[in-house]
Amino acid sequence: MIIRPRIIYVVRLGEVEAEHLVAVSESIQEHFALESRVMENQEILPCTLDHARNQYNSNLILKKLLQICPADALKILGITNFDLFSPIFSYVFGEAQFGGKGAVISTFRLRGDTDGRVLPGCPPLCDRVEKEAIHELGHTFGLRHCADPDCVMHYSVGVQCADRKFAFFCRACRELMLWHMAADLFLKA
Ligand SMILES: [Zn+2]
Ligand SMILES: [Zn+2]
Repeated sequence: MIIRPRIIYVVRLGEVEAEHLVAVSESIQEHFALESRVMENQEILPCTLDHARNQYNSNLILKKLLQICPADALKILGITNFDLFSPIFSYVFGEAQFGGKGAVISTFRLRGDTDGRVLPGCPPLCDRVEKEAIHELGHTFGLRHCADPDCVMHYSVGVQCADRKFAFFCRACRELMLWHMAADLFLKA
């Protein structure tokens, strides 16, 4: 029997607040109109820790996520509370495989300052986590950064910039995303 991949999995990597997992999963269902399921994985994170930097390697996490990807997964998104880096950046909010299956995001820098502390007066962390999740999944659907400052695919230099944009795709990005999604769902399956 051929299994058609059509589910977006949200993978809890280590300790992550349940409310964030649920909010992201619900947001995915709303923005992509696809089923989303939450799954647990406590093994991936420890082997991706860079001891010298005391940060986790997002490239490695992506590779490991693809190894545990269920057969019915259209996309797989890891979420962690720990700080992520990619070899060319000192830290990243998240990383995605462009036009691929995997993405990972961290709540650490979204909390408000570079030490990962929650600052008073910040918008709800859930809003930021949701936007980052949709943004990185957008890359997996082949979307590049968008010039529209309101669009979720706009490149955010910092959290303040991320707060300015919406959790939604602009019209052009949405159409492109739906086109890529149709290709992912029906042509590649
Ligand atoms: Zn991006
Ligand atoms: Zn856009």
